[in-house]
Amino acid sequence: MTDIIDSDYLVIGAGGMGMAFVDELITQTTATITIVDRNHRPGGHWNDAYPFVRLHQTSTCYGVNSTPLGKATIDQVGWNKGCYELASGSEVVAYFDQVMRQRFLPSGRVRYLPMCEYRDDGSVVSRVSGTEYSVRAKKIVDATYINVTVPSQRPPKFKVLDGAVCVPPNAAPKLAPEYSKFTVVGSGKTGIDTCLFLLEMGVAPADITWVMPNDAWLFDRFTVNPGRQFTDIITAGRIEVLKAAIAADSVDDFFQRVLACDQLFQFDPAVKPTNWRCATVTRLELEQLRKIPNVVRLGHVQAVTPTEMRLDQGTWKTAANTLYIDCAADGLKNRPQKKVFDGNRITLQTVRMCQQVYSAGFIGNVEANLNDEARKNALCRPVPLPHAANDYLRCAIQDSENMLVWLTEPKVVSWINASRIDLFSPIFKFDCPVVGPQIEAMGALLQQAIPKMQALLDQETAQA
Ligand SMILES: Cc1cc2nc3c(=O)[nH]c(=O)nc-3n(C[C@H](O)[C@H](O)[C@H](O)COP(=O)(O)OP(=O)(O)OC[C@H]3O[C@@H](n4cnc5c(N)ncnc54)[C@H](O)[C@@H]3O)c2cc1C
Repeated sequence: MTDIIDSDYLVIGAGGMGMAFVDELITQTTATITIVDRNHRPGGHWNDAYPFVRLHQTSTCYGVNSTPLGKATIDQVGWNKGCYELASGSEVVAYFDQVMRQRFLPSGRVRYLPMCEYRDDGSVVSRVSGTEYSVRAKKIVDATYINVTVPSQRPPKFKVLDGAVCVPPNAAPKLAPEYSKFTVVGSGKTGIDTCLFLLEMGVAPADITWVMPNDAWLFDRFTVNPGRQFTDIITAGRIEVLKAAIAADSVDDFFQRVLACDQLFQFDPAVKPTNWRCATVTRLELEQLRKIPNVVRLGHVQAVTPTEMRLDQGTWKTAANTLYIDCAADGLKNRPQKKVFDGNRITLQTVRMCQQVYSAGFIGNVEANLNDEARKNALCRPVPLPHAANDYLRCAIQDSENMLVWLTEPKVVSWINASRIDLFSPIFKFDCPVVGPQIEAMGALLQQAIPKMQALLDQETAQA
Protein backbone atom coordinates (compact mmCIF):
# COMPACT_ATOMS: atom_id res chain seq x y z
CA MET A 1 0.00 0.00 0.00
CA THR A 2 1.32 3.43 -0.88
CA ASP A 3 0.39 6.32 1.35
CA ILE A 4 0.00 9.53 -0.69
CA ILE A 5 1.04 12.79 0.95
CA ASP A 6 0.49 16.19 -0.66
CA SER A 7 2.85 18.88 0.55
CA ASP A 8 4.36 22.15 -0.59
CA TYR A 9 7.86 21.01 0.38
CA LEU A 10 9.52 17.65 0.85
CA VAL A 11 12.61 18.08 3.02
CA ILE A 12 15.05 15.15 3.01
CA GLY A 13 17.04 15.14 6.26
CA ALA A 14 16.08 16.34 9.73
CA GLY A 15 19.65 17.27 10.72
CA GLY A 16 20.53 20.79 11.79
CA MET A 17 20.29 22.10 8.24
CA GLY A 18 16.88 20.63 7.41
CA MET A 19 15.53 21.86 10.75
CA ALA A 20 16.87 25.42 10.36
CA PHE A 21 15.42 25.68 6.83
CA VAL A 22 11.98 24.40 7.87
CA ASP A 23 11.92 26.76 10.84
CA GLU A 24 12.06 29.74 8.47
CA LEU A 25 9.23 28.35 6.34
CA ILE A 26 7.09 27.90 9.44
CA THR A 27 7.80 31.43 10.67
CA GLN A 28 7.50 33.24 7.39
CA THR A 29 5.09 31.27 5.16
CA THR A 30 1.94 29.19 5.32
CA ALA A 31 3.57 26.28 3.47
CA THR A 32 3.03 22.63 4.34
CA ILE A 33 6.16 20.52 4.75
CA THR A 34 6.95 16.82 4.86
CA ILE A 35 10.25 15.92 6.54
CA VAL A 36 11.84 12.52 5.91
CA ASP A 37 14.81 11.14 7.84
CA ARG A 38 16.30 7.70 8.21
CA ASN A 39 17.04 8.36 11.90
CA HIS A 40 14.48 7.86 14.66
CA ARG A 41 14.68 11.48 15.78
CA PRO A 42 15.87 14.82 14.45
CA GLY A 43 19.41 16.17 14.94
CA GLY A 44 21.28 14.19 12.26
CA HIS A 45 24.87 13.33 13.12
CA TRP A 46 24.47 14.60 16.69
CA ASN A 47 22.62 11.33 17.37
CA ASP A 48 25.84 9.42 16.64
CA ALA A 49 28.25 11.76 18.35
CA TYR A 50 30.57 10.83 21.22
CA PRO A 51 29.18 11.53 24.69
CA PHE A 52 31.60 14.35 25.50
CA VAL A 53 31.04 16.24 22.23
CA ARG A 54 30.12 19.91 22.47
CA LEU A 55 29.42 22.53 19.89
CA HIS A 56 32.58 24.34 18.99
CA GLN A 57 30.69 27.53 18.34
CA THR A 58 28.55 29.02 21.04
CA SER A 59 25.02 27.79 21.70
CA THR A 60 23.70 31.33 21.46
CA CYS A 61 23.79 31.25 17.67
CA TYR A 62 23.30 27.56 16.88
CA GLY A 63 20.12 25.75 15.91
CA VAL A 64 16.90 27.17 14.49
CA ASN A 65 16.19 30.87 14.49
CA SER A 66 12.93 30.79 16.45
CA THR A 67 14.11 28.86 19.49
CA PRO A 68 17.06 29.72 21.73
CA LEU A 69 19.53 27.00 22.60
CA GLY A 70 21.00 27.28 26.11
CA LYS A 71 20.81 30.25 28.43
CA ALA A 72 23.41 32.57 26.90
CA THR A 73 25.59 32.00 29.94
CA ILE A 74 29.26 32.89 29.87
CA ASP A 75 31.30 30.03 31.30
CA GLN A 76 32.93 30.95 34.60
CA VAL A 77 34.94 27.77 35.03
CA GLY A 78 36.76 25.28 32.82
CA TRP A 79 38.83 25.73 29.71
CA ASN A 80 36.04 27.59 27.92
CA LYS A 81 36.05 30.25 30.66
CA GLY A 82 35.10 33.71 29.39
CA CYS A 83 33.26 32.41 26.32
CA TYR A 84 29.58 31.63 25.87
CA GLU A 85 28.45 28.14 26.85
CA LEU A 86 28.82 25.31 24.34
CA ALA A 87 25.87 22.90 24.23
CA SER A 88 26.71 19.24 24.75
CA GLY A 89 25.69 16.71 22.10
CA SER A 90 22.80 15.47 24.24
CA GLU A 91 21.56 19.05 24.68
CA VAL A 92 21.67 19.55 20.91
CA VAL A 93 19.70 16.34 20.30
CA ALA A 94 17.14 17.22 23.00
CA TYR A 95 16.85 20.71 21.51
CA PHE A 96 16.04 19.50 17.97
CA ASP A 97 13.61 16.94 19.39
CA GLN A 98 11.83 19.73 21.29
CA VAL A 99 11.72 21.97 18.23
CA MET A 100 10.07 19.14 16.32
CA ARG A 101 7.59 18.24 19.05
CA GLN A 102 6.78 21.65 20.44
CA ARG A 103 6.95 23.82 17.35
CA PHE A 104 6.95 22.00 14.02
CA LEU A 105 4.32 19.33 14.69
CA PRO A 106 1.87 21.53 16.64
CA SER A 107 1.93 24.01 13.72
CA GLY A 108 -0.25 21.46 11.91
CA ARG A 109 1.78 22.09 8.76
CA VAL A 110 4.54 19.54 9.23
CA ARG A 111 4.36 15.82 8.55
CA TYR A 112 7.43 14.08 9.98
CA LEU A 113 8.43 10.64 8.71
CA PRO A 114 11.23 9.30 10.94
CA MET A 115 13.06 6.07 10.11
CA CYS A 116 12.17 6.53 6.48
CA GLU A 117 14.59 6.36 3.58
CA TYR A 118 14.35 8.71 0.63
CA ARG A 119 15.44 6.78 -2.45
CA ASP A 120 16.94 8.10 -5.66
CA ASP A 121 13.76 7.28 -7.59
CA GLY A 122 11.92 9.76 -5.37
CA SER A 123 10.10 7.20 -3.25
CA VAL A 124 10.06 7.20 0.53
CA VAL A 125 10.02 3.91 2.43
CA SER A 126 9.72 3.20 6.12
CA ARG A 127 12.78 1.29 7.34
CA VAL A 128 10.69 -0.54 9.92
CA SER A 129 7.25 -1.18 8.44
CA GLY A 130 8.15 -1.12 4.76
CA THR A 131 5.29 1.33 4.14
CA GLU A 132 5.85 3.30 0.94
CA TYR A 133 4.97 6.97 0.78
CA SER A 134 4.40 8.93 -2.37
CA VAL A 135 5.09 12.53 -1.44
CA ARG A 136 3.68 14.88 -4.08
CA ALA A 137 5.60 18.05 -3.32
CA LYS A 138 5.97 21.28 -5.26
CA LYS A 139 9.60 21.56 -4.12
CA ILE A 140 12.19 19.06 -2.95
CA VAL A 141 14.79 20.22 -0.45
CA ASP A 142 17.96 18.17 -0.18
CA ALA A 143 19.23 18.66 3.37
CA THR A 144 21.65 15.74 3.12
CA TYR A 145 24.10 17.16 0.61
CA ILE A 146 26.73 18.23 3.16
CA ASN A 147 26.89 14.56 4.17
CA VAL A 148 28.57 14.80 7.58
CA THR A 149 30.38 11.65 8.74
CA VAL A 150 31.44 11.01 12.32
CA PRO A 151 33.78 8.16 13.38
CA SER A 152 31.06 6.00 14.96
CA GLN A 153 29.23 5.82 11.62
CA ARG A 154 31.97 3.84 9.86
CA PRO A 155 34.85 1.43 10.56
CA PRO A 156 38.42 2.79 10.90
CA LYS A 157 40.13 3.67 7.61
CA PHE A 158 43.27 1.81 8.76
CA LYS A 159 43.83 -1.86 9.61
CA VAL A 160 43.47 -2.99 13.22
CA LEU A 161 45.74 -6.07 13.55
CA ASP A 162 46.71 -8.81 15.99
CA GLY A 163 44.24 -7.96 18.74
CA ALA A 164 44.90 -4.21 18.95
CA VAL A 165 41.90 -2.40 20.43
CA CYS A 166 40.64 0.57 18.43
CA VAL A 167 37.36 2.30 19.21
CA PRO A 168 35.55 5.45 18.12
CA PRO A 169 35.57 8.21 20.76
CA ASN A 170 32.04 7.14 21.75
CA ALA A 171 33.54 4.20 23.66
CA ALA A 172 36.35 6.14 25.34
CA PRO A 173 34.58 7.08 28.61
CA LYS A 174 33.57 3.46 29.30
CA LEU A 175 36.87 1.84 28.30
CA ALA A 176 39.36 4.43 29.59
CA PRO A 177 39.61 2.95 33.11
CA GLU A 178 40.86 -0.35 31.62
CA TYR A 179 43.82 1.22 29.80
CA SER A 180 46.94 3.06 30.89
CA LYS A 181 47.96 4.57 27.52
CA PHE A 182 45.89 6.24 24.83
CA THR A 183 46.66 6.92 21.20
CA VAL A 184 44.35 9.45 19.59
CA VAL A 185 44.33 9.12 15.80
CA GLY A 186 43.34 12.34 14.07
CA SER A 187 43.89 16.00 14.77
CA GLY A 188 40.59 17.59 13.72
CA LYS A 189 37.85 18.76 16.05
CA THR A 190 37.12 15.18 17.21
CA GLY A 191 40.79 14.50 17.98
CA ILE A 192 41.06 17.80 19.86
CA ASP A 193 37.91 17.01 21.86
CA THR A 194 39.18 13.54 22.71
CA CYS A 195 42.59 14.77 23.91
CA LEU A 196 40.90 17.45 26.02
CA PHE A 197 38.45 14.87 27.43
CA LEU A 198 41.30 12.55 28.48
CA LEU A 199 43.24 15.42 30.04
CA GLU A 200 40.16 16.73 31.84
CA MET A 201 39.52 13.25 33.26
CA GLY A 202 43.00 13.27 34.73
CA VAL A 203 45.02 11.24 32.24
CA ALA A 204 48.64 12.40 32.38
CA PRO A 205 49.71 14.17 29.16
CA ALA A 206 52.62 11.72 28.82
CA ASP A 207 50.15 8.83 28.61
CA ILE A 208 48.58 10.28 25.48
CA THR A 209 50.03 9.90 22.02
CA TRP A 210 48.47 12.12 19.39
CA VAL A 211 48.67 11.23 15.70
CA MET A 212 48.62 14.50 13.81
CA PRO A 213 48.81 13.82 10.07
CA ASN A 214 48.40 17.55 9.43
CA ASP A 215 48.65 20.62 11.59
CA ALA A 216 45.70 22.96 11.21
CA TRP A 217 45.09 26.62 11.79
CA LEU A 218 42.60 27.01 14.65
CA PHE A 219 40.19 29.84 15.40
CA ASP A 220 40.52 31.54 18.76
CA ARG A 221 36.99 30.92 20.08
CA PHE A 222 37.04 34.14 22.05
CA THR A 223 37.20 36.18 18.84
CA VAL A 224 34.12 34.50 17.37
CA ASN A 225 31.93 35.00 20.44
CA PRO A 226 28.70 36.57 19.30
CA GLY A 227 26.60 38.98 21.33
CA ARG A 228 26.52 42.64 22.08
CA GLN A 229 29.19 42.61 24.74
CA PHE A 230 31.62 41.06 22.25
CA THR A 231 30.53 43.17 19.29
CA ASP A 232 33.65 45.28 19.19
CA ILE A 233 35.89 42.22 19.43
CA ILE A 234 34.18 40.36 16.60
CA THR A 235 34.06 43.45 14.39
CA ALA A 236 37.65 44.39 15.05
CA GLY A 237 38.66 40.81 14.30
CA ARG A 238 36.88 40.79 10.97
CA ILE A 239 38.49 44.09 10.05
CA GLU A 240 41.96 42.88 11.14
CA VAL A 241 41.69 39.88 8.79
CA LEU A 242 40.70 42.09 5.85
CA LYS A 243 43.55 44.49 6.63
CA ALA A 244 45.96 41.56 6.87
CA ALA A 245 44.96 40.44 3.37
CA ILE A 246 45.38 43.94 1.96
CA ALA A 247 48.83 44.37 3.53
CA ALA A 248 50.19 40.85 2.88
CA ASP A 249 52.72 40.14 0.14
CA SER A 250 52.24 36.35 0.17
CA VAL A 251 49.89 33.73 1.58
CA ASP A 252 52.43 32.94 4.31
CA ASP A 253 52.69 36.61 5.18
CA PHE A 254 48.88 36.79 5.36
CA PHE A 255 48.74 33.93 7.87
CA GLN A 256 51.52 35.47 9.96
CA ARG A 257 49.61 38.74 10.10
CA VAL A 258 46.35 37.01 11.08
CA LEU A 259 48.27 35.06 13.71
CA ALA A 260 49.81 38.25 15.04
CA CYS A 261 46.39 39.82 15.57
CA ASP A 262 45.21 36.75 17.50
CA GLN A 263 42.52 35.63 15.05
CA LEU A 264 44.13 32.21 14.54
CA PHE A 265 46.20 29.85 16.66
CA GLN A 266 48.69 27.22 15.63
CA PHE A 267 49.32 24.16 17.78
CA ASP A 268 53.10 24.24 17.51
CA PRO A 269 54.73 27.54 16.55
CA ALA A 270 57.53 25.57 14.89
CA VAL A 271 55.23 23.67 12.51
CA LYS A 272 53.51 25.44 9.64
CA PRO A 273 49.85 24.38 9.44
CA THR A 274 48.79 22.93 6.11
CA ASN A 275 45.12 22.51 7.02
CA TRP A 276 42.22 24.58 8.23
CA ARG A 277 38.94 22.94 9.26
CA CYS A 278 37.11 25.77 11.06
CA ALA A 279 37.85 24.20 14.46
CA THR A 280 37.86 26.60 17.41
CA VAL A 281 39.82 26.39 20.66
CA THR A 282 40.36 28.72 23.56
CA ARG A 283 43.77 29.80 24.75
CA LEU A 284 43.31 27.61 27.85
CA GLU A 285 42.47 24.56 25.73
CA LEU A 286 45.49 25.20 23.56
CA GLU A 287 47.72 25.35 26.66
CA GLN A 288 46.39 21.94 27.71
CA LEU A 289 46.84 20.39 24.28
CA ARG A 290 50.41 21.64 24.11
CA LYS A 291 51.24 19.60 27.22
CA ILE A 292 50.90 16.38 25.20
CA PRO A 293 54.53 15.47 24.51
CA ASN A 294 54.05 12.61 22.05
CA VAL A 295 52.80 14.11 18.82
CA VAL A 296 53.29 11.80 15.84
CA ARG A 297 53.78 13.57 12.52
CA LEU A 298 54.44 10.65 10.18
CA GLY A 299 51.40 10.99 7.92
CA HIS A 300 48.27 8.89 8.09
CA VAL A 301 47.97 5.63 9.99
CA GLN A 302 47.98 2.53 7.77
CA ALA A 303 47.68 -0.12 10.50
CA VAL A 304 47.83 -0.51 14.26
CA THR A 305 48.97 -3.50 16.32
CA PRO A 306 49.18 -3.85 20.13
CA THR A 307 52.82 -2.70 19.98
CA GLU A 308 53.15 -0.32 17.04
CA MET A 309 51.52 1.95 14.49
CA ARG A 310 52.47 1.80 10.83
CA LEU A 311 52.12 5.16 9.22
CA ASP A 312 52.75 6.63 5.74
CA GLN A 313 56.24 7.74 6.74
CA GLY A 314 57.40 5.26 9.37
CA THR A 315 56.62 3.14 12.40
CA TRP A 316 55.87 4.30 15.95
CA LYS A 317 56.19 1.98 18.93
CA THR A 318 53.22 1.98 21.26
CA ALA A 319 53.27 0.97 24.90
CA ALA A 320 51.51 -2.11 26.24
CA ASN A 321 47.88 -1.63 27.24
CA THR A 322 47.23 1.11 24.69
CA LEU A 323 43.70 2.03 23.64
CA TYR A 324 43.58 3.44 20.12
CA ILE A 325 40.85 6.03 19.64
CA ASP A 326 39.86 6.60 16.01
CA CYS A 327 39.05 10.27 15.49
CA ALA A 328 39.94 10.32 11.81
CA ALA A 329 36.57 10.70 10.04
CA ASP A 330 36.50 13.46 7.47
CA GLY A 331 33.51 15.29 8.94
CA LEU A 332 32.78 17.43 5.90
CA LYS A 333 33.77 15.81 2.64
CA ASN A 334 34.29 18.01 -0.39
CA ARG A 335 31.45 17.64 -2.87
CA PRO A 336 30.94 19.61 -6.07
CA GLN A 337 29.05 22.81 -5.47
CA LYS A 338 25.56 22.97 -6.94
CA LYS A 339 23.09 25.74 -7.61
CA VAL A 340 21.16 26.12 -4.37
CA PHE A 341 17.93 26.91 -6.23
CA ASP A 342 17.38 24.84 -9.37
CA GLY A 343 13.79 24.65 -10.56
CA ASN A 344 11.82 22.69 -8.01
CA ARG A 345 14.95 21.47 -6.22
CA ILE A 346 16.73 23.26 -3.38
CA THR A 347 20.13 21.90 -2.30
CA LEU A 348 21.15 23.25 1.09
CA GLN A 349 24.82 24.24 1.18
CA THR A 350 27.11 26.52 3.12
CA VAL A 351 26.67 30.18 2.18
CA ARG A 352 28.63 31.60 5.11
CA MET A 353 31.93 29.99 5.92
CA CYS A 354 31.90 27.37 8.66
CA GLN A 355 28.21 27.95 9.36
CA GLN A 356 26.13 25.13 7.92
CA VAL A 357 23.06 25.44 10.10
CA TYR A 358 23.03 29.21 9.84
CA SER A 359 23.33 28.87 6.05
CA ALA A 360 20.25 26.64 5.91
CA GLY A 361 18.25 29.22 7.89
CA PHE A 362 19.54 31.95 5.59
CA ILE A 363 18.46 29.97 2.49
CA GLY A 364 15.06 29.42 4.14
CA ASN A 365 14.67 33.17 4.54
CA VAL A 366 15.55 33.76 0.89
CA GLU A 367 13.11 31.04 -0.21
CA ALA A 368 10.36 32.55 1.91
CA ASN A 369 10.81 36.11 0.62
CA LEU A 370 12.07 36.14 -2.96
CA ASN A 371 10.79 34.66 -6.20
CA ASP A 372 13.37 35.32 -8.88
CA GLU A 373 15.63 32.24 -9.08
CA ALA A 374 18.66 34.10 -10.45
CA ARG A 375 18.48 36.64 -7.63
CA LYS A 376 18.04 33.89 -5.05
CA ASN A 377 21.12 32.09 -6.35
CA ALA A 378 23.09 35.34 -6.41
CA LEU A 379 22.35 35.70 -2.69
CA CYS A 380 23.12 32.04 -1.93
CA ARG A 381 26.40 31.25 -3.61
CA PRO A 382 28.02 28.23 -1.94
CA VAL A 383 31.19 28.86 0.04
CA PRO A 384 33.87 26.13 -0.31
CA LEU A 385 34.21 23.67 2.55
CA PRO A 386 37.30 24.01 4.74
CA HIS A 387 40.17 21.57 4.20
CA ALA A 388 43.59 22.96 3.21
CA ALA A 389 45.06 26.05 4.84
CA ASN A 390 44.53 28.14 1.71
CA ASP A 391 40.81 27.33 1.86
CA TYR A 392 40.72 29.97 4.57
CA LEU A 393 41.36 32.55 1.84
CA ARG A 394 39.07 30.81 -0.68
CA CYS A 395 36.26 30.75 1.86
CA ALA A 396 36.93 34.34 2.91
CA ILE A 397 36.68 35.50 -0.72
CA GLN A 398 33.29 33.86 -1.35
CA ASP A 399 32.09 34.78 2.11
CA SER A 400 33.01 38.43 1.53
CA GLU A 401 31.46 38.47 -1.94
CA ASN A 402 28.27 37.04 -0.49
CA MET A 403 28.26 39.65 2.23
CA LEU A 404 28.49 42.45 -0.34
CA VAL A 405 25.46 41.05 -2.19
CA TRP A 406 23.55 40.56 1.06
CA LEU A 407 24.00 44.22 1.92
CA THR A 408 22.06 45.10 -1.26
CA GLU A 409 18.96 43.12 -0.30
CA PRO A 410 16.74 44.69 2.37
CA LYS A 411 14.94 41.38 3.11
CA VAL A 412 18.29 39.85 3.90
CA VAL A 413 19.69 42.72 5.93
CA SER A 414 16.60 42.92 8.12
CA TRP A 415 16.64 39.14 8.64
CA ILE A 416 20.30 39.22 9.61
CA ASN A 417 19.75 42.11 12.00
CA ALA A 418 17.05 40.18 13.81
CA SER A 419 18.63 36.77 13.51
CA ARG A 420 19.48 34.82 16.65
CA ILE A 421 21.67 32.39 14.72
CA ASP A 422 23.77 35.00 12.97
CA LEU A 423 27.21 34.89 14.56
CA PHE A 424 28.17 38.15 12.94
CA SER A 425 24.83 39.96 13.10
CA PRO A 426 26.30 42.61 15.41
CA ILE A 427 28.54 43.82 12.61
CA PHE A 428 25.54 44.47 10.40
CA LYS A 429 23.90 46.65 13.00
CA PHE A 430 24.46 50.04 11.46
CA ASP A 431 22.68 51.65 14.41
CA CYS A 432 25.02 50.13 16.97
CA PRO A 433 27.11 52.95 18.46
CA VAL A 434 30.03 50.64 19.18
CA VAL A 435 30.52 49.53 15.62
CA GLY A 436 28.67 52.05 13.46
CA PRO A 437 31.80 53.88 12.34
CA GLN A 438 33.66 50.62 11.74
CA ILE A 439 30.84 49.36 9.53
CA GLU A 440 31.22 52.40 7.31
CA ALA A 441 34.72 51.22 6.59
CA MET A 442 33.74 47.56 6.17
CA GLY A 443 32.23 47.80 2.67
CA ALA A 444 35.29 49.64 1.35
CA LEU A 445 37.62 47.17 3.03
CA LEU A 446 35.77 44.21 1.51
CA GLN A 447 36.07 45.76 -1.96
CA GLN A 448 39.82 46.11 -1.49
CA ALA A 449 40.39 42.79 0.24
CA ILE A 450 38.56 40.45 -2.17
CA PRO A 451 40.81 41.00 -5.23
CA LYS A 452 43.87 41.05 -2.97
CA MET A 453 43.01 37.66 -1.45
CA GLN A 454 42.53 36.23 -4.95
CA ALA A 455 45.86 37.73 -6.04
CA LEU A 456 47.62 36.08 -3.09
CA LEU A 457 46.18 32.69 -4.06
CA ASP A 458 47.04 33.19 -7.75
CA GLN A 459 50.59 34.19 -6.84
CA GLU A 460 51.01 31.01 -4.80
CA THR A 461 49.60 28.86 -7.63
CA ALA A 462 51.99 30.48 -10.10
CA GLN A 463 54.96 29.76 -7.81
CA ALA A 464 53.98 26.12 -7.22
C1 LIG B 1 31.60 17.05 16.06
C2 LIG B 1 30.98 18.15 15.26
C3 LIG B 1 30.77 19.40 15.83
C4 LIG B 1 30.20 20.42 15.09
N1 LIG B 1 30.01 21.64 15.68
C5 LIG B 1 29.45 22.64 14.96
C6 LIG B 1 29.24 23.92 15.54
O1 LIG B 1 29.56 24.16 16.68
N2 LIG B 1 28.67 24.87 14.78
C7 LIG B 1 28.30 24.64 13.48
O2 LIG B 1 27.76 25.53 12.83
N3 LIG B 1 28.51 23.45 12.91
C8 LIG B 1 29.08 22.46 13.61
N4 LIG B 1 29.30 21.26 13.03
C9 LIG B 1 28.99 21.14 11.61
C10 LIG B 1 27.73 20.34 11.38
O3 LIG B 1 27.95 19.80 10.14
C11 LIG B 1 26.45 21.16 11.42
O4 LIG B 1 26.31 21.73 12.65
C12 LIG B 1 25.15 20.40 11.20
O5 LIG B 1 24.79 19.63 12.32
C13 LIG B 1 25.12 19.60 9.97
O6 LIG B 1 23.78 19.24 9.78
P1 LIG B 1 23.27 18.60 8.46
O7 LIG B 1 21.80 18.68 8.56
O8 LIG B 1 23.94 19.18 7.29
O9 LIG B 1 23.80 17.09 8.46
P2 LIG B 1 23.41 15.80 9.29
O10 LIG B 1 23.47 16.08 10.72
O11 LIG B 1 24.29 14.72 8.77
O12 LIG B 1 21.89 15.49 8.89
C14 LIG B 1 21.53 14.89 7.67
C15 LIG B 1 20.33 14.01 7.93
O13 LIG B 1 19.90 13.48 6.69
C16 LIG B 1 19.47 12.15 6.89
N5 LIG B 1 19.56 11.46 5.59
C17 LIG B 1 20.61 11.39 4.76
N6 LIG B 1 20.30 10.71 3.65
C18 LIG B 1 19.00 10.35 3.79
C19 LIG B 1 18.08 9.63 2.97
N7 LIG B 1 18.43 9.14 1.76
N8 LIG B 1 16.82 9.41 3.42
C20 LIG B 1 16.44 9.89 4.63
N9 LIG B 1 17.27 10.60 5.43
C21 LIG B 1 18.52 10.82 5.02
C22 LIG B 1 20.41 11.60 7.94
O14 LIG B 1 19.81 10.53 8.64
C23 LIG B 1 20.63 12.83 8.84
O15 LIG B 1 19.73 12.84 9.92
C24 LIG B 1 29.86 20.21 13.74
C25 LIG B 1 30.09 18.95 13.16
C26 LIG B 1 30.64 17.92 13.89
C27 LIG B 1 30.86 16.60 13.22
